[in-house]
Amino acid sequence: MSVPTRDNSSFKLMAQFGHQKLVFCNDEAVGLQAVIAIHDTTLGPAIGGVRMLPYQHTDEAIDDVLRLSRGMTYKAAVAGVNLGGGNAAIIGDHRTQKNEALLRRFGQFVEELGGTFIASLDIGTTPRDMEFIRMETECVAGLPKSLGGSGDSAPFTAKGVYYGIKASLKERYGNDSLAGRTIAVQGAGNVGEQLIALLREENAKVYVSDIVEERMVEVANKYKAVPVANNNIYELDVDVYAPCALGGTVNKETIAKMRCQIIAGSANNQLRNEAEDAQLLMEKNILYAPDYLINAGGLISCYSEIAGYNASRTAALTETIYETTRSVLRKSMNENIAPHEAANQLAEARIADMRKIKR
Ligand code: NAD
Repeated sequence: MSVPTRDNSSFKLMAQFGHQKLVFCNDEAVGLQAVIAIHDTTLGPAIGGVRMLPYQHTDEAIDDVLRLSRGMTYKAAVAGVNLGGGNAAIIGDHRTQKNEALLRRFGQFVEELGGTFIASLDIGTTPRDMEFIRMETECVAGLPKSLGGSGDSAPFTAKGVYYGIKASLKERYGNDSLAGRTIAVQGAGNVGEQLIALLREENAKVYVSDIVEERMVEVANKYKAVPVANNNIYELDVDVYAPCALGGTVNKETIAKMRCQIIAGSANNQLRNEAEDAQLLMEKNILYAPDYLINAGGLISCYSEIAGYNASRTAALTETIYETTRSVLRKSMNENIAPHEAANQLAEARIADMRKIKR
């Protein structure tokens, strides 16, 4: 029986979203205040980023970890890896308040969770920080190659997005050839650049934008892509718009301008208002490859690090994004539901099935 409390909003959220655990970590001696959320461990230990941000209120940190840990459960489930969803937030300014003692103390809290939470990189944490956490617990993924980790995840993320684009082309046009297809990549960062390289290798015509003009020009010249002003990218008459910069770029205002056939990119949370924007895209007959499905290459690489897989197994697992994207888009069309909804349903079905065989 649940106990009534005066402020039960966290419990309400946990009950609504099915979270298992919310852990508060406190150590005044090192100035550590952190929260760790474990959403679901049916498929395996809960993996999640450790972010360090100067939250104004503890509630904001709690909201963040509850929301993000749930997202990780779905991402891992639909990617077909045996991991659950978690997330951690250290409250503080990573530029001024982060130090070895704080990170190692956090690592001890992770260790106390007995292998149910695996820490990885997020906003405000670096590979070096993961090294400090690793000194206190083995439950860390995404370590640099020099420490036996999988290193930079961007190449795997880019490869997954490439498969997501090809799968979407197949569903829209009946063939997945990139030759002659037009693709607008927003953001020429770590993932964007590697994606552009893969697309250009197969003779796609690529447009590229970045708020850092120098970066845009450099990448455009290197791969013979066409630079475009960031504000004009939505209006391009292209096959694919690939958001690889930041979230929320697919919204009421931008959808009204869009002339692309497909949206498929690496950015997290691309739809500003998930349900409304997905509906607008369906009305405009723009195919949307769910972000969390096609950007799962980095997670797959972390999973390989944990499972001890080699590079070819990681590549094979990343390639499964192609077939999963096709299944999701077909389910979405057959059942007339939004693609992210179709992906959610696949994730939920896998978790429900695995619960049946869990002893
Ligand atoms: P990055 O920081 O290396 O690159 C982002 C690029 O976008 C930068 O060049 C930046 O100048 C540019 N940019 C920022 N705001 C912009 C704007 N308004 N318009 C145009 N360009 C803008 O990041 P990344 O590692 O390449 O990741 C790209 C996106 O993919 C992010 O949203 C990230 O959360 C997401 N993602 C990355 C990974 C990964 O493995 N790196 C995994 C999953 C999701």
